[in-house]
Amino acid sequence: MEKLRREVQRLFGIQLTAKQLGAFEVYEQELTDWNSRFNLTAIRDRDSIRCKHFLDSLSCTLVLKDNPPNRLIDIGTGAGFPGIPLKIIYPKMSLVLVDSVGKKVEFCRHLVNKLELDRVEILHSRAEDLGQLPTHREQFDWAVARAVANLPTLVEYLLPLVRIGGAILAQKGENGPAEAHAAENATRMLGGRLRQLYKVELPGVVEDRYLVVIDKIAATPPQYPRRAGIPSKNPLDLTPV
Ligand code: SAM
Repeated sequence: MEKLRREVQRLFGIQLTAKQLGAFEVYEQELTDWNSRFNLTAIRDRDSIRCKHFLDSLSCTLVLKDNPPNRLIDIGTGAGFPGIPLKIIYPKMSLVLVDSVGKKVEFCRHLVNKLELDRVEILHSRAEDLGQLPTHREQFDWAVARAVANLPTLVEYLLPLVRIGGAILAQKGENGPAEAHAAENATRMLGGRLRQLYKVELPGVVEDRYLVVIDKIAATPPQYPRRAGIPSKNPLDLTPV
């Protein structure tokens, strides 16, 4: 854990408190324990959990730190990434975690209780359904996602949830720039505009990582997101208009 503390300071300029370090320790233990019973994530050993889950999730702070979010939604959060590490860093933020798989939602509920995190809503739902609900549509400063879908699909999951003036952040691998290009039309159709592609290098991770940041500059037309399953089967850029 001392190494994690030093890496977070070196890479992101964040000085973790003892309480925050303790929370990451509990997270690691619970994830390892649940993973031995259920297949929550393929990343299982201690060093990989710290680097590929914790540090990678916290790389979002490179973009978020100038303007920490009040309301953030994490779509396809799985075992809580990147939403829960960000909540540990920004305790005042209100957070919504969403996943379509019940077991993963159950783990997030267990962990959020164990860490006594407040202002966290955990939903067993699909992004496409939430994006059409008035309680969640255009309600968030930030919508984030890691390893959920290709960007032309992902923008249809995320942009409807963000208010005008907010933004989405997609954590991507080396295909980040190509995906941002492929999603140009979909981004525009949904009220977004590409702000930034931020390259991230993590210790022990060979592949380049990118944070793709898209501003919401106009309202999303009411027909989006389309019905559950359609954005991934028929991404907007491939749809004749
Ligand atoms: N974000 C986590 C991470 O990086 O470790 C989990 C990534 S996992 C590869 C993708 C997750 O997205 C799965 O848990 C899946 O159930 C969820 N998912 C995929 N499509 C979704 C959708 N349309 N709405 C909600 N969750 C979705």
